[in-house]
Amino acid sequence: MLTFVALTANAQYYTTLNREAAIRLFNRPMERREIILPTIDGYTLYKADFHTHTIYSDGDVTPRQRVREAWYDGLDIVAITDHLEIRTYEKFMLKVLAPYNRTSEPFKYEHAGIANKKDKNTPVLANLNAAYDEAVYYTQRENLPIMVVRGTEIWRNTKSVGEFNALFLKDINVICHPDLFESFRRIKEQGGLIMHNHPGYTRTTTEIAEGDQARAYREGWIDGVEAVNSTTLYPDIIGRCVEKKLFIAANTDAHKPTSHDWPANGEFFRTMTFVMAKECSEEAIKEALKECRTIGYSGNHLVGEHRYLSAFINAAVTCRVICQSEKQCTYSFTNNCSIPFMLRYKNNVYKLEPFKTLSFSFKKQSLPTFVVENMWHIDEQHPQVTLSIDK
Ligand SMILES: [Zn+2]
Repeated sequence: MLTFVALTANAQYYTTLNREAAIRLFNRPMERREIILPTIDGYTLYKADFHTHTIYSDGDVTPRQRVREAWYDGLDIVAITDHLEIRTYEKFMLKVLAPYNRTSEPFKYEHAGIANKKDKNTPVLANLNAAYDEAVYYTQRENLPIMVVRGTEIWRNTKSVGEFNALFLKDINVICHPDLFESFRRIKEQGGLIMHNHPGYTRTTTEIAEGDQARAYREGWIDGVEAVNSTTLYPDIIGRCVEKKLFIAANTDAHKPTSHDWPANGEFFRTMTFVMAKECSEEAIKEALKECRTIGYSGNHLVGEHRYLSAFINAAVTCRVICQSEKQCTYSFTNNCSIPFMLRYKNNVYKLEPFKTLSFSFKKQSLPTFVVENMWHIDEQHPQVTLSIDK
């Protein structure tokens, strides 16, 4: 009780002092961009980024900043996927911590991991779960309603093998192994999923490379592929995902703060994957990814299977007949979601902005059918969609 009284008195004292000495010019509460999306077949579309980095590998920000900005940016789910092998900031951290090294040995940075070309068996000395733990600690402390996914990025020769994100892990420390397929086995043992990242990175083709990459696909280790990484679309990946039943992902692969590429007052939201799930639990999101119920979003483009793109625009846009004569029919189209649609009818393209209505006339016999130019499905095609009338 005494302690309580003392603390209260102190708080009073500083408030009074502040009032006399300083004038607060404005308050800046936390502010989130809300992204309104339709529901499809009873599924909510959760907004996820399955690929981000922090200072615990080669990113520029702390894990707590990753989850804070994810919330600002309107996400429901963010995966922290620091590299196993590329851990640029560790040497700086170790320099800062050097005074803690009480041995008489001269301080030496031990490269953590198998990117060490001299000795591929050098063990990782860091606790690879630390970034995830810090992110979760922060979301709990600040009551941020956002799911953090424990993940990691596995790096191999980008031209011949590629990079892979392991998602929904239980312990990242045991994933590190010089043999890629031993790492894969340990990911699956933990119930994790494997995503093939930026398939065209440092390559001139997105075709599956012979060798370990081909083996990874052939043996069924891969669960999903990034059709979009940051702002780059790999259109061929959509067909691969549909053919092989893999989830289509779009992720930032953020190393810098996301406000660098996607400012809060900008035209676009950050790149993200819409996941169609019954609820935002780890189990439900994993189930949705295994069933490939995803749509990729980047720069107001939507990437996915025709059936989901068609369902998305039909659920988002209300189409009504507002008048009809013998010769023509006039429709109104109201966009009830945060994503615009570029609707091509014959030679004209109409931009249906979020939360706005367009109206125009068609010949009496024609249904309201458009090519949606900011949607991409297989073979670099934009889907042709007929909107259902008077919902
Ligand atoms: Zn990455």
